[in-house]
Amino acid sequence: MEHVDVVVIGAGLAGLSAARMLTRAGKTVAVLEARDRVAGRNHGAVFGNGVPIEMGGQWVGPGQDAVLALIDELGLKTYPSYDSGAALTYYDGAAHRYDDASFGLPEPDAVEAGRVWEAITALAERVDLETPWTTSGAEDLDRQTFDQWLLGETTNALVIRFFRLIVPALFSAEAHELSLLHFLFYMKSGKSLDVLVATTGGAQESRVIGGTHRISERMAAELGDAVRLDTAASGITQSDAGVVVDFDGGTICADHVVVAIPQTLAGRLRYSPPLPAARDAVTQQFPAGSVIKFNIAYPTPFWREDGLSGFVMSLDHAFNVVLDNSPHDESCGVLVGFLEGRHARASSELTAEQRRELVLGDLVDYFGERAAKPIDVLEKDWNAEEYTRGCYGGRLAAGVWTNYGKAVATPVGRIHWAGAETSDVWNGYMDGAVRSGYRAAAAILDATA
Ligand SMILES: Cc1cc2nc3c(=O)[nH]c(=O)nc-3n(C[C@H](O)[C@H](O)[C@H](O)COP(=O)(O)OP(=O)(O)OC[C@H]3O[C@@H](n4cnc5c(N)ncnc54)[C@H](O)[C@@H]3O)c2cc1C
Repeated sequence: MEHVDVVVIGAGLAGLSAARMLTRAGKTVAVLEARDRVAGRNHGAVFGNGVPIEMGGQWVGPGQDAVLALIDELGLKTYPSYDSGAALTYYDGAAHRYDDASFGLPEPDAVEAGRVWEAITALAERVDLETPWTTSGAEDLDRQTFDQWLLGETTNALVIRFFRLIVPALFSAEAHELSLLHFLFYMKSGKSLDVLVATTGGAQESRVIGGTHRISERMAAELGDAVRLDTAASGITQSDAGVVVDFDGGTICADHVVVAIPQTLAGRLRYSPPLPAARDAVTQQFPAGSVIKFNIAYPTPFWREDGLSGFVMSLDHAFNVVLDNSPHDESCGVLVGFLEGRHARASSELTAEQRRELVLGDLVDYFGERAAKPIDVLEKDWNAEEYTRGCYGGRLAAGVWTNYGKAVATPVGRIHWAGAETSDVWNGYMDGAVRSGYRAAAAILDATA
């Protein structure tokens, strides 16, 4: 039977980062990728006019040192996201324009939102990133959903609606679908809530010229024949002698395996001997969010003429988070937006034509009639993707961190876990995926030194 030092399952950023580090250290590696392309949740598409556009993960920002260094090493370039002009928050049937820290809320509500924001920020300071379950008061923080905490913190209806929008904007999941501890962990993992939501100075600061999928494509090009497309892994057998990985059409043995696929999908592999109960429970309790991403192209970024940045949040609409996503050469105008959480689930039952009407109708409410006449519309429903099954990433509901947290990234014998959801820094982000790959590779190099 064919033997390599390490089999990596999944050719997303995590798997490829692990494979690249192992290869550079002299290990023989095989990367098994189920799809006919690499890059997983970083899917590059092209508009009819030839402009490349990202249908998955796209922004990078300060503090994301691992992915930024990788982009640089691979000879790729970033450019700043468009972030000039006024933003809009839409509520109670009207758009509210702002260019300050108010999020467009009336003053008393903005003050209350600021107070709640500060309260979350202070709570997040307590979280122990490496072992969130040992955080002081972890049981209490993990017993409640974010929504329960929010309702206990404020009675201001507009502020509650505002935070019920912020949560899906970050997780593609509703505020009642994740524990308070998970929210706090995720915030601190990306430094702070301010950093997570900001464009300039935050997680949406920059984009990669040509698209983020090029990061994975360049790593895969370096790895050459080691990357095997259309090769879905189906099972792992582990013994004292090593591991045997089954895939469609064959088997391959190795000393170690890195499982670098979303947690839910890791639970769909067959393990022999069976995984320890806690590790299997992690795979059952790490669901991904629900998101349908749209990129809408126009001849020009016409909203800029009205002094608008293109950033919109709406408490009234389904297509409720929108940003300017125009290419760096401004060869056309692009708006990107998301149907998230319950809105993604409801609209996945519509036809593509009905979804397009819904999205364009919401954009007309924000930007006027010119928004009704795009030159192209691209959409991607990440929950419908067999080898992703939801985005942006996984989140943990009440009680999971404190009961099963230890098993999220701890290897099981020769099986190592990677993927954005296993990182303690920039969890759920591209940067976290890269770091997780390096962590898994380093553990294997340590074990074989
Ligand atoms: C719409 C959207 C927007 C996002 N926005 C951002 C953003 O702006 N900034 C940011 O940093 N992050 C963003 N993210 C998150 C980011 O894309 C992910 O965190 C990151 O790409 C995950 O990388 P990964 O390697 O951990 O997993 P994946 O990219 O999911 O890679 C896993 C790979 O494993 C393969 N696979 C699955 N099952 C098997 C199997 N059985 N056998 C073999 N291969 C298998 C998959 O095909 C895939 O290629 C976004 C994600 C989405 C979907």
